[in-house]
Amino acid sequence: MGEFELITRYFQRPQRALDEGVVLGVGDDCALLQPTPGMQWAVSSDMLVSGRHFFPDVDPRTLGHKALAVNLSDLAACGAKPRAFTLALALPEARAEWLQPFSEGLFALADAHGCALMGGDTTRGPLNICITVMGEVPPGQALLRSGARVGDDVYVSGTLGDAALALRCLQGRVHLPPAVLAQARQRLEQPTPRVALGLALRGVASAAADVSDGLLGDLGHILAQSGVGATVDADIAIHLIATCAYSTRDRGQFDAEIPPALALQCVLAGGDDYELVFTAPPAQAAAVQAAARASGTPVTRIGRTEAMAGVRVVDGSGALLPGPWASFDHFATPPRP
Ligand code: ADP
Ligand code: MG
Repeated sequence: MGEFELITRYFQRPQRALDEGVVLGVGDDCALLQPTPGMQWAVSSDMLVSGRHFFPDVDPRTLGHKALAVNLSDLAACGAKPRAFTLALALPEARAEWLQPFSEGLFALADAHGCALMGGDTTRGPLNICITVMGEVPPGQALLRSGARVGDDVYVSGTLGDAALALRCLQGRVHLPPAVLAQARQRLEQPTPRVALGLALRGVASAAADVSDGLLGDLGHILAQSGVGATVDADIAIHLIATCAYSTRDRGQFDAEIPPALALQCVLAGGDDYELVFTAPPAQAAAVQAAARASGTPVTRIGRTEAMAGVRVVDGSGALLPGPWASFDHFATPPRP
């Protein structure tokens, strides 16, 4: 199969009613996109590299999902509505058994969000997937990292730490019972971009980011860009990991033979969660819960911003937990997996 046959067969679909705004899609030198009058574009790129972001033998269907999900997660963090994306693909070989499920996983998520594939590039090379996504947001309404103020509440959506736990298990660093691994692995391989929550938080959240490299690291970006600090409650945070059930009273009690310290490390610094971390003034607390309900996304308050720079992690009694809580950094951490 040649390059153009590959593109036509797996990535070119008839222009559909769903692709409103895509005047010209795959097949010409450029795609043509009609902006909704009065809206601003929100644009973001994310690259997934084999052997670094995913195991080379990962299920291609879940890889197609994840490649788009991590990009939609950036739009969610800005409160932008997904419109269209490009796909730049380097492939070692053109194999139908890989391309078919990859494109199905990709389009299933794209269609669920009304986000059209408008073009891209295809080349032979080590497996590498780069997506650029474009969304729309009314001027002045994008959720930024720089908007947090002293005294804001800090929230996260959904669950945290399960993807990092799955990765550690797949790397042979911890043992998980098969049913627990299956649940955690779902979070690693098929994250849910919180697009509906991001839209509902426009005008409610003061700042937001998505959790891709670890909660404290991504919260740290919000704090640094807002010129504030924060304290996070570890006794609340540890319950955010879904694959281990910790009793409220006794942090030593756990399922799945995962020590609380490891669970907490996964929650605070694990990465690959694709949840939203955001701040909002206390006066918006009811509006935050309304946004959570409207978008069907659980939201948990985990701390508060304060004037002192940096992030402090405390337990329920207010005692400082020492860390370190290293988030993922491509140039500071050895390659994974
Ligand atoms: P050019 O030679 O101008 O770079 P290409 O031959 O690379 O164009 O691509 C031909 C058409 O196919 C273009 O419309 C391009 O956007 C589209 N395309 C190429 N690769 C992909 C892909 N992986 N997914 C979607 N569209 C693609
Ligand atoms: Mg090209």
